[in-house]
Amino acid sequence: MSSTSQLRVAIVGGGPVGASLGAYLCRAGARVAVFHNPKRPPILVGESLVPAVIPFLRRLQIEEEVAAYATHKPGASFTFGDITTQSFCFAEALGAEVQYSYNVPRDRFDASILEAARAAGAHIIEERASIITEGEPVGLAGPEGRIALGGASAERAAEVLGGTPDWVIDAGGRARIVARALDLDFVEGPRKDAALHAHLEGVPLLIDGNVHTDRLTRGWCWRIPLPGRVSVGFVVNDGYLAEFGATPETQYDAFLSREPALSQWSAGARRISPVVRYNNYQLRSLRGVGPGWALVGDAFGFVDPVFSSGLLIGMSAAARLADAILAGSASAMRNYEHYVIDQLTVWQRLVDYYYDGRLFTLFEVGDAVRKRRGWQLVDRHLQRHLPRIFTGEATRSRYSVGLLDFMVKYAIVGHDPAKLEVH
Ligand SMILES: Cc1cc2nc3c(=O)[nH]c(=O)nc-3n(C[C@H](O)[C@H](O)[C@H](O)COP(=O)(O)OP(=O)(O)OC[C@H]3O[C@@H](n4cnc5c(N)ncnc54)[C@H](O)[C@@H]3O)c2cc1C
Repeated sequence: MSSTSQLRVAIVGGGPVGASLGAYLCRAGARVAVFHNPKRPPILVGESLVPAVIPFLRRLQIEEEVAAYATHKPGASFTFGDITTQSFCFAEALGAEVQYSYNVPRDRFDASILEAARAAGAHIIEERASIITEGEPVGLAGPEGRIALGGASAERAAEVLGGTPDWVIDAGGRARIVARALDLDFVEGPRKDAALHAHLEGVPLLIDGNVHTDRLTRGWCWRIPLPGRVSVGFVVNDGYLAEFGATPETQYDAFLSREPALSQWSAGARRISPVVRYNNYQLRSLRGVGPGWALVGDAFGFVDPVFSSGLLIGMSAAARLADAILAGSASAMRNYEHYVIDQLTVWQRLVDYYYDGRLFTLFEVGDAVRKRRGWQLVDRHLQRHLPRIFTGEATRSRYSVGLLDFMVKYAIVGHDPAKLEVH
């Protein structure tokens, strides 16, 4: 492998994850080309950040810039059952390193990170990249398979990098072009939802700035306050949405006015953007590195929007992948792969606790138990561990996550979580 100054890396995808990786590698002296597809939907999902993303904004030196166009996010509010709401304030997460976050208009957020990569010296190629499989035998699939940039993309990369890239990184999001080309094994989560997403004016909030997650008759919805608007998205079983019309717009508008929890406020709200539809399939690859290639961000795996974990998983992975590439050893790459698989697996489990009703049941039980005499010490211990899982800081702590696993198994005995299941 080349020394850092000769290391050449081609990154497919200039979203937040690919651009972060590009910035880190360039700062360390590598030559980097980022293929950035200039075509984007009118609005993008991924607008709510968890607090553990903030250290990455600082590392990219963009926190101040982001804060200027973002909404300050002090916490999260969950509505479940008929009217019960639990609001969490990040400032009350005992021992948390970062106690706030932001909701961001994604076009500006993505542009800030891409600019950080450009400023660090990355060559931004405003084109879609193509890839081909290659190697012995030609087209060998699986994690040992080889890939390379296709014709015109290879030429463009060689031009700016001064030679063939040592690494081709798939940061192209859920299109998963490398994983598909190599036919990598993956696991799917249990949910096969669709998400409909738009921006609205006139949407009420319980707590300014909080991300709101409301359990609905079927599925759930988010309300993410952005400057001058609120992002509202529904995550619902695909078949059910079809009952509301044929196009994303008709489905969105009809769902908004007919779903009981939403109709309480929807008459006073106005949609001010087109509706964008996402397939919300939970899917994670079982391998993420191979000879001269790696996956990062959604291209490696995507769990679910419910806890706003996507950008944290991807941006923390970008930092680790940069370190692994710079370390230049197979074991560093393997450690990177284990890190991402572990994080995707942990978040999938947390998400499962949301959908199967166990988390909400624990909230309810916790509220009742907390008021009993003598429980303050236990409560304090739980408060030190559980909230920091959801701020994204403690998902690597075996103890904290193990404590939550224990609580959702034993603390809710005698209660029926199915009553609070998200259908
Ligand atoms: C419904 C929904 C709601 C979500 N809400 C949140 C949330 O609130 N908070 C959160 O943290 N996460 C959320 N996420 C997840 C979040 O959107 C992603 O985790 C995050 O955007 C991943 O970033 P990325 O850079 O890996 O991929 P992307 O943001 O998808 O960026 C990939 C980029 O690569 C480009 N690209 C693809 N192929 C090529 C190619 N061949 N050549 C060049 N460019 C290419 C794409 O056009 C895109 O610009 C949500 C996801 C969904 C589906």
